[in-house]
Amino acid sequence: MLQSFSRWKSSRQISLRTAGRGLFVIAFVYTCAAAMFTGVLLTKIEREAKFTRETQLPLILSQTRNAVKAERLASLVRAIYLARDRRLERQVQLQIQALAQGFPFDAGDRVVAGAKRVAVLAKEIAGARQQARDSSSQNITAFTFEERATTAYGEAIKTIDEMGKELSGDAALAADRLAQEIEAGAATTRYTVLLTLLLPGIFCIVLLWLARRHLARPILSAIANLKRINENAHTVPIQTRPVLKELAMIGDAVRSYGDVAIELRRKNIVLQALAEEDPLTGLANRRTFETFLKAALSDEGRGGGIAVLLIDLDHFKSINDRYGHQVGDQCLQSLGLALLSVDRLSNSLAARYGGEEFVIVYQAESEDQALLDAAFVCRRIEAMRIPLEGERSMSMTASIGVAFTRQREAGEMNDLISRADRALYLAKSGGRNRAVADNSAYAKGRVSSTVGKPAR
Ligand code: GH3
Ligand code: MG
Ligand code: MG
Repeated sequence: MLQSFSRWKSSRQISLRTAGRGLFVIAFVYTCAAAMFTGVLLTKIEREAKFTRETQLPLILSQTRNAVKAERLASLVRAIYLARDRRLERQVQLQIQALAQGFPFDAGDRVVAGAKRVAVLAKEIAGARQQARDSSSQNITAFTFEERATTAYGEAIKTIDEMGKELSGDAALAADRLAQEIEAGAATTRYTVLLTLLLPGIFCIVLLWLARRHLARPILSAIANLKRINENAHTVPIQTRPVLKELAMIGDAVRSYGDVAIELRRKNIVLQALAEEDPLTGLANRRTFETFLKAALSDEGRGGGIAVLLIDLDHFKSINDRYGHQVGDQCLQSLGLALLSVDRLSNSLAARYGGEEFVIVYQAESEDQALLDAAFVCRRIEAMRIPLEGERSMSMTASIGVAFTRQREAGEMNDLISRADRALYLAKSGGRNRAVADNSAYAKGRVSSTVGKPAR
């Protein structure tokens, strides 16, 4: 446990297994603690109920019994006072004495003393009555004894009243104490049960919050990163580092995968460019040209026709021989740039066909228009100046074979290229620096009227 804690402290991460074990330990400890708590609480309630049954209730019952006795004592005192018969007085007095002695000591000292006092006063009443009867001849003395009996009776009733108050006060106090104890017990039970129920609730809320922060968020973040990779975008780091090691590993793996995917895509673009472009001029290569032409011929939805201008530099071998291969390469690069800028042609592609041969394919209105375009390209090439060492410069010319078709069939491609090649041959044999359109109707080709000067 300590080892896991120190490992967590250093990395701030735990594994899913450790998290699971931690949760199990918490649930187990909590269940044991709750069971123990409930057990202790129930035992306490049981003990208090027993105490109430064995101690408190008998006390209240005894006080109630004593109150009844006090009531009975009062009626006996009333009876002895009202009795005018010696025997009856004697009987009641004995009953009062017996009743007064029957008060248990747990009724309280004052009640016991009060009962004894009532017994004495009852005796006094009986004694005074007897003396009153004995001296009945002398009226004045009888009256005095009768007065004594009345005073004793009054005092006895007063004592019994006080006893009653004392007894009912004791019973009330005992009942109040009992009620308070039950109330306190109920409050403790309420709080303990509430706490026992609330704690799992709070724990679940905290657990949900943790799960949202450290479980759902990293997973959603990884999903968002996967979507970004799918959309060719860069991945973004997870805002909060997840505590769970496995999720952090998944997040890192997705990010590395994103980096690899971007690098692969970048390399793919480079490779694609290398596969589609000519490295010297930056123009499309022959394969790209053929793919483009095939696609253009297959696209039946496009209107107009397709023109192919096959461009071959005139006497390029002699340029190489005279100025060197580097200058020759420079000529090819300049021509590549010039062809790229022929942007007035719609849906066009300029490519290096091979060696010092270039090709332009585009959507043309007619063969005549294509021939005019080719003548324009001839003039542009002728007007180009290739800088040499010092302040010198050189120029070059090119011959262009033009082929045009309105037929939209992929199979047309070879025929179109060979017709352009044938026209190029005618342009060369016709004196170079010119554009010639091949037309099957004119076996000799048609020479454009807009070509520049023939090459020297
Ligand atoms: P023409 O077409 O007018 O009949 O004469 P040409 O001299 O241009 O004819 P040819 O096709 O015989 O010569 C083409 C030359 O182009 C041969 C080769 O040395 C040169 N060449 C081909 N590719 C390159 C290249 O990449 N760089 C350079 N500097 N020269 C190249
Ligand atoms: Mg050639
Ligand atoms: Mg040539």
